[in-house]
Parts: sequence; structure tokens; C-alpha cells
Amino acid sequence: MMDLLCLGIESTAHTFSCAVIEKKGRGGRILSDVRKIYRPPDGEGIHPREASRHHAEHSPQVLSECLAKAGLGIGDLDMVSYAAGPGLGPCLRIGAVVARSLASYYGLPIYPVNHALGHIELGKMLTGARDPLVLLVSGGHTMILAFLGKKWRVFGETLDITLGQLLDQIGRHAGFASPCGPKIEELASRSTKYEPLPYVVKGNDVSFSGLFSATKRIMPRGLEDACFSLQETAFSMVGEAVERALSFTGKKEFMVVGGVAANRRLSEILRSICRRHGCRFYASPREYAGDCGSQISWVGLLEAKRGSGARLEDTFVRQSWRIDSVEVHY
Ligand code: AMP
Ligand code: MG
Repeated sequence: MMDLLCLGIESTAHTFSCAVIEKKGRGGRILSDVRKIYRPPDGEGIHPREASRHHAEHSPQVLSECLAKAGLGIGDLDMVSYAAGPGLGPCLRIGAVVARSLASYYGLPIYPVNHALGHIELGKMLTGARDPLVLLVSGGHTMILAFLGKKWRVFGETLDITLGQLLDQIGRHAGFASPCGPKIEELASRSTKYEPLPYVVKGNDVSFSGLFSATKRIMPRGLEDACFSLQETAFSMVGEAVERALSFTGKKEFMVVGGVAANRRLSEILRSICRRHGCRFYASPREYAGDCGSQISWVGLLEAKRGSGARLEDTFVRQSWRIDSVEVHY
């Protein structure tokens, strides 16, 4: 099988990233992965127009740095892929325009990629997991998934905000800079005092909005205790849903991916659940847990095994493109 080089472009939310992966047989090697992250003012969230302006301004620099680090020119690439959704419309369109321009000018095949699939497939490539139950926890997702009959099926998800949004909104309420997950993790690690908070698991889905309001109410009594109690409650809810999905599906592998996968306390809880179920635990490496071009590049390469790319007129963006609607053929 021929080696393939793919440029992957990620721009679904806060991150604009370009990466090149070289695929040899079934294996992949990341040659470069350059990111520029939009940072809103402290205490504020992502403003889609401002984030897309950030991406537009930084895309030429990120692209040229990515190619320079890989030691390649555009002429060396075999294909280009971009995150077509789900995400923020204005942000998605920047990545799509860059990809479409390169594809049409240089005659490269172009592959629209589902962003959630990127988190999962890169996680599998980097950890070696083959058929895991997956927990995807990020700014845009809180989902438990398993692969069956050409599709990733959902075995539980959030009914309102995502785990990443919960942490970010609590952090912003305290005036921290986004993304707030790492700061909340640090504060939580300094407390062991649990303040009771609403724990809401419905069927195998979770709901965080009541937890969000109640955490805001206890924050004035002590930020560290509030962060500790928030993490313990939210992570236990997710853990309960994961445990039920594990016993239902009988999977022998489990993998956590997405930006929140970087959290050590979450990993600890999940790891102990896996131990009880005789299941192997995998977590995407911290460096590749959050949004990055490598996720998009790798799915593009996997899809190239079968297809020859999309027609330019089919290179849309889809803000609410659910992963369980994507047919997977590799
Ligand atoms: P993503 O959308 O995959 O890039 O993930 C971004 C989300 O991950 C944001 O909500 C961050 O606050 C969250 N995040 C990043 N690092 C951590 C951490 N150490 N603990 C908890 N959440 C984190
Ligand atoms: Mg993401």
C-alpha cells in the first residue's frame, strides 16, 4: 500500500490547527501539529464571530508553520481534510474555505471529516485500543459510544450542557480565563471537603444544569471546596453511566477522549471502574486530548482507503452533524 500524506484542518471552536500525518499501511506518524487557540477575555466565553476572525487571521501562519515543521511543501501533500462539523458555523467556515482553496488550486482530493470521529479515531491510533467503549468529554460533547454495524452508537449523553461547558461556565463565573478545566482541577486538588450537590442521571443520560446552578450558590463559601464537590459529583455521574454501558455492552476495552480527558481525577474514577469490570483502560495522551488538526488528518487518511474525496460542491459545513449519523467504512 502506498504511503499517504494528509493535511488536516481543525476549526470547530476555539482552536485553529493544521497537522500533517503520514500513513504507512495501517500505522500513522504525526509529522507536525500546529495550533493557535482563541482566548476570550477572562470571565467570558467564545464569541463565534471573534473566534472566526481569530482563525482567519492566524490560518496563513499556522499552515506555513505546519508545513515547515513537517519539512514539506504543499506539492508533497496527497490530500487535505477539514472538520466539517459539529461546531460553530463561522469557525467551521474558515477551515472549510482554507481546505477548499488548497484543494481547488493544487488539485488535491478533499475530505470533510466529523470532528467527534476525529477525537475517537486519533485516540485509537495513539493508544492502540481496537474496539473500545468510548467516553467523549469535551467542550462540545458528553457522549458514551460503542461501534456496531458501521456506526458509532450512543449509549448515553448529556441532556443539556456538556461536561466541558459545565467546568468552563463555573470557571468563568469565578472570573477565570477560558478554558477553565485545568484551573478547576488545580483548585479541586486542594480540598477534600464534599458539599452535597444535585446528582442527576436519567436512564443512562446525565443532566448538568441543576449542578451548575447549585455549584454557583456554594462558591462564595469556598472556591476550592466548590470545585472539589463539582468534580466529584459530575465525574461520578459520568462514571455511573459509563459503568452501566460497560456491563451492557460487555466491552473489554474502554477509552476516554476529548479535552476533559486530560483531568487526572476523572481518569482515576474511570480507571477504577474498568478494574472492577476486567476492562483495559485507555486515555488519549494529554497533548492530543483537546481539538487538533491530527484528529482531522487521521480520519481523512482512514476514509481515503475507500473513497476518492468529496466533490467541491459537497464540501459544506454542518453545525449539528451528529456522529451517530455517520457511516464508517474502515
Ligand atoms: P475540546 O473541546 O476537546 O478541545 O476540549 C476543551 C474542554 O476541555 C474545555 O471545556 C476545557 O475546560 C476542558 N479541559 C481541558 N483540560 C482540562 C482538565 N485538566 N480538566 C478538566 N477539563 C479540562
Ligand atoms: Mg472537540
